[in-house]
Amino acid sequence: MSFITAKHPMPEQDPRERIKNFKEVALGYDQETAVAEANRCLQCKGAPCQKGCPVGVEIPAFIKLIKEGDFIAAGNKIKERNNLPAVCGRVCPQENQCEKQCVLGKKGEPVGIGRLERFAADYGAAFDRTAQHLSRQVTGKKVAVIGSGPAGLTAAGDLAKLGYRVTVFEALHVPGGVLAYGIPEFRLPKDIVKREVDYLKSLGVEIKTNMIIGKTFTIDELFTDGFQAIFVATGAGLPYFMNIPGENLNGVFSANEFLTRTNLMKAYRFPEYHTPVHIGAKVAVIGAGNVAMDSARTALRLGAQKVTVVYRRSEKEMPARLEEIKHAQEEGVEFLFLTSPVKLIGDKEGWVKNMQCIRYELGEPDASGRRKPVAVPGSEFNVEVDTVIMAIGQGPNPLITQTTDGLMSNARGNIIVDERGQTTRSGVFAGGDIVTGAATVILAMGAGKQAAISIDQYLRDK
Ligand code: FAD
Ligand code: SF4
Ligand code: SF4
Repeated sequence: MSFITAKHPMPEQDPRERIKNFKEVALGYDQETAVAEANRCLQCKGAPCQKGCPVGVEIPAFIKLIKEGDFIAAGNKIKERNNLPAVCGRVCPQENQCEKQCVLGKKGEPVGIGRLERFAADYGAAFDRTAQHLSRQVTGKKVAVIGSGPAGLTAAGDLAKLGYRVTVFEALHVPGGVLAYGIPEFRLPKDIVKREVDYLKSLGVEIKTNMIIGKTFTIDELFTDGFQAIFVATGAGLPYFMNIPGENLNGVFSANEFLTRTNLMKAYRFPEYHTPVHIGAKVAVIGAGNVAMDSARTALRLGAQKVTVVYRRSEKEMPARLEEIKHAQEEGVEFLFLTSPVKLIGDKEGWVKNMQCIRYELGEPDASGRRKPVAVPGSEFNVEVDTVIMAIGQGPNPLITQTTDGLMSNARGNIIVDERGQTTRSGVFAGGDIVTGAATVILAMGAGKQAAISIDQYLRDK
């Protein structure tokens, strides 16, 4: 029985240093710390933690291997269920998933399952020189996966392991979805995403980039081309705006554009890369989820002097991961709670200069269970800004539903599926953010896993 009630702390870059660079903030456990953290695990019968993992990682089993010092075996144990372990170890909202179910959490802190997962994945990538030859029978049947985010990559990996010939079609020039274009380098280094994608390629998955399904090819053309089942995992990449006056001024971005320019187009390495991004001295980020925290911390690293997160609810309701909020606070991001912009005001040249805001107070709980923000009449005030980043959510791109007969979506544009991920069109499955709306990496991966099982069943029955 362990008497250590707190997780072993994660070594991190000093906040004063890290706001000057894009290198990873969390540095990862060394071997000694990983074994010490693994020793906190009680190896509970029935593994309650495992029930909180949407892809079913055998948590006590991999932690036991770390305890025993067999780090490579621990990494391989995770990979039996999880095709992207180094990603999940870094960005999974563990506090709401596996770690929420950990029995140690009742009296102290849960086991640092995500930190251990990251350790085992990184150790395996650095030291496992035995190529994993999976004995699989190739069925010859072709499956198309549309979108290379966590949902698409998970389904592709599992289907390849089952022996299918899988081709992933990705609209952008780099695979990974949000992992590549959205989550910044300082949280999820891009060579780690590439490493996970390379692992899937080693399983036989083919990835075709610069392919916009609905434009380059339609779903019907993919069927004509011999694909026997299709998994649509196109995410929720269409940014929402507030529809307030002044949103078209220069210096106003969607978080999606701002982060894509920085991560995918490497604006932070201008002029080495020829795609700069404009950043002012006073930046306001509207919203309080992970996307808002990433935008605020990116703006600081790009040289903004003052970055303020503006949120219409209070700190308690912030949807971002706790760790991201803590990191943003440590780095000097300021917060303006119970406030929302009503108008953006520009100068003669058309650049945003001021933001008129209104105060809110919290009323009764709404459909989401959170207390509804109610505007306080007459409480308007102005905030000086020269960059505004809208991070209030994203929705699905309608391209595929508009170009595919019989593929039904709901009022929000999310594709309708049954519990197996089957859409209203035979042979077409869907999962991840395109079905649920913007959610999390691990939920998208869980949907990808379910889709692989359903597609296998569908093709066997066919
Ligand atoms: P995506 O990751 O969005 O991938 C969809 C892919 O499909 C994209 O690559 C897109 O280019 C491609 N595509 C779209 N249309 C087409 C088409 N017509 N043809 C071909 N390809 C197409 N979740 C967490 O759990 N933890 C976090 O810390 C976290 N941070 C986040 C930070 C940001 C900035 C953002 C935006 C999201 C964050 N999320 C986080 C949410 C998480 O990333 C998403 O829920 C997850 O990526 C959804 O996976 P997906 O596979 O459904 O879609
Ligand atoms: Fe926990 Fe995510 Fe790993 Fe599952 S994949 S064990 S939820 S960190
Ligand atoms: Fe270990 Fe916590 Fe899972 Fe128990 S619930 S096996 S202590 S990780």
